[in-house]
Amino acid sequence: MTLKSELPKSRGKVIPQAEWRIAQIDDMLSALDFFLNPNAENPGWNWSKHIYQTYPELEERLRRLSGTAARRKAERAFFEEVLVVEHAGLEKSLEQYRREWGKLNDGIMRALEEVVQTKWSEKDRKISALVSPLPLCPRYLDSRTFLINYRFSPSGAVATSIHEILHFIYFKKWKEIFPEAKREEFDSPHLVWKLSEMVPSIVLGDPCVQAVFKCDFKSHEIYHHTTIDGRPLLSRLQEIFDERTDFADFLKKSWKFVNENKEDIP
Ligand SMILES: [Zn+2]
Repeated sequence: MTLKSELPKSRGKVIPQAEWRIAQIDDMLSALDFFLNPNAENPGWNWSKHIYQTYPELEERLRRLSGTAARRKAERAFFEEVLVVEHAGLEKSLEQYRREWGKLNDGIMRALEEVVQTKWSEKDRKISALVSPLPLCPRYLDSRTFLINYRFSPSGAVATSIHEILHFIYFKKWKEIFPEAKREEFDSPHLVWKLSEMVPSIVLGDPCVQAVFKCDFKSHEIYHHTTIDGRPLLSRLQEIFDERTDFADFLKKSWKFVNENKEDIP
């Protein structure tokens, strides 16, 4: 018989598991709505061109329609058809990604805890990784869900998955450091969200992540080309990261830095 007090400390510890499946139409609609109907106040973040590059015939179809309801109906019908036509490719990628990810899941989850310096919580236990025909990879913070473009190589899918999963633990940490933060700030177009899209190439470059999956991780493309006072934005943040006393220190100092320079940040 084992007494409760003798149970190993690791008991009850959450190691999230990414569960892979093919995205259904309902998993894609809110992302489509966001991507295809860009916010007029943020023209720099218009993602519709990425969708239209992959599906030029969709742009044709939508051009002839007026009104949100008609557009949404057409978007739904279009991607219902895409899911059928591209089913074999989606299935093939699903199997590859699931196999590659399975080798890394636990190691990555532990490495993210180590670098971000917080623990996964009960609500993180299941993460949904959805293989989708969309050329963009949105994440849904509240449901711990993200979409992966099925055209990616298996290692590309793994790299993007790690980037998305970082967001989940990163915002948990953020809330611990800045308890007054509001939920909406974790999404576009808020500065808190923008910073979260700058840091992946830096945070995931940490040796504890690299030891599990060696990769040149990317932040959002736009930030790889952003300069502040003539110096690359990401180099400035990398310095703050390298000189951090702990992860909280990195968050506080990088938050201060982006606030001081928000006029120059797209
Ligand atoms: Zn991201």
